[in-house]
Amino acid sequence: MKTLTINCGSSSLKYQLYDMETEAVVAKGLVERIGTDGASLKHDSVGRGKITIRSGIPNHSVAVQDMVQALRDPEYGVVKSIDEITAIGHRVVHGGERFSDSVVIGPEVTAAIKECIKFAPLHNPINLMGIEACTAMCPDVPQVAVFDTAFHQTMPKYVYLYAIPYDYYQLHGVRRYGFHGTSHQFVANRAAKLLGKPLKDLKMITAHLGNGCSITAIQHGQSQETSMGLTPLNGLMMGQRSGDIDPALIPFMAEIEKTDAEGVVNVLNKKSGLLGVSGVSHDMRDIEKAMAEGNERAAIAHKMFCHRIKKYVGTYAAGMGGLDVIVFTAGIGENDPLVRATACEGLEYLGVEIDKARNESSEKEKVISTDKSRVKVMVVPTNEELMIARETVRLVGKDGKKKPGKK
Ligand code: ADP
Repeated sequence: MKTLTINCGSSSLKYQLYDMETEAVVAKGLVERIGTDGASLKHDSVGRGKITIRSGIPNHSVAVQDMVQALRDPEYGVVKSIDEITAIGHRVVHGGERFSDSVVIGPEVTAAIKECIKFAPLHNPINLMGIEACTAMCPDVPQVAVFDTAFHQTMPKYVYLYAIPYDYYQLHGVRRYGFHGTSHQFVANRAAKLLGKPLKDLKMITAHLGNGCSITAIQHGQSQETSMGLTPLNGLMMGQRSGDIDPALIPFMAEIEKTDAEGVVNVLNKKSGLLGVSGVSHDMRDIEKAMAEGNERAAIAHKMFCHRIKKYVGTYAAGMGGLDVIVFTAGIGENDPLVRATACEGLEYLGVEIDKARNESSEKEKVISTDKSRVKVMVVPTNEELMIARETVRLVGKDGKKKPGKK
């Protein structure tokens, strides 16, 4: 009785197979560079060995076939038959306004995911390809969609609307949706558990700082506001993405670049953020190395990145009328004490006081504020895959036989 999670990115597929009795990962893998000659599948049957298979993997359907083959390989596989997989959970990037929760996949659901392609043209088609390939390989296994946007569907209307003519929202669905919902929800629940308090009693800010970065205000256990918008370009400064800008920059930059709006958005998505400002790299480790060597542009990029986080903390504390907990997560949030310390510097007036030794300790899950800090500041590693597996089991049960609708 095993639950499989699948996360299809533009040229990758990540999978994990869980024994949900214990929540142990029994196998995991990564297919990379799908569609290129260098495509490969790295499979790890946890505790029994790893294998790398390099072969032409032209698309995500073939990646799913190769994954199934690896999972049931007589030598290094972990299941004898595909029937041992009782349910499959998929990460789906955009669920629009239709999905405020995870859902069991059927024809109506795939049709609705298709309708959201207009909001996530790079991601939703790939997510659908993963779903369709699994349906072809394992037609009797129930599948669940877990949306990046679902957790944020609780945002109030005055928060999610843009101040543009209302028809854009009413006729075309133009509004803030937010992303990384699975991660924000996972770390918020975990942080509340670690503090021994119900999440609904806490005013919390969760900062997901990875390649993509977003920050969320959580009140009454629900997402109240979040920094990403209609698309993941909005909000914090990121590795390669600009985050918030003056929208009038778009025609201005188009004129300079001799391009159109799409060309500018490409610059804002791929050539901006830490990379664009520093000229060094999108990777925070490289930025900090360059800073240490005296690179001024790397130093200003770092300062901008941290300052933007601090500004959002202030905004969200004001929006919630107070603050009890800040949680840092994802690659930078979990591993970078300098970013955490710089982002929290000057927030003493809000009751935030960082303990240097705790912040710099090697523990993975920890409180990094001082004992007398009124706001608890924490580091909580995210685990989107486990959250997807839990959601899948919640909807279809460990044996995959629970009927939809029954809690
Ligand atoms: P993704 O959003 O692709 O899942 P991650 O959550 O893995 O990304 O985060 C990637 C980011 O985490 C990169 O900017 C990387 O530099 C940063 N990162 C990873 N390890 C460290 C570290 N030890 N110190 C600082 N930054 C780190």
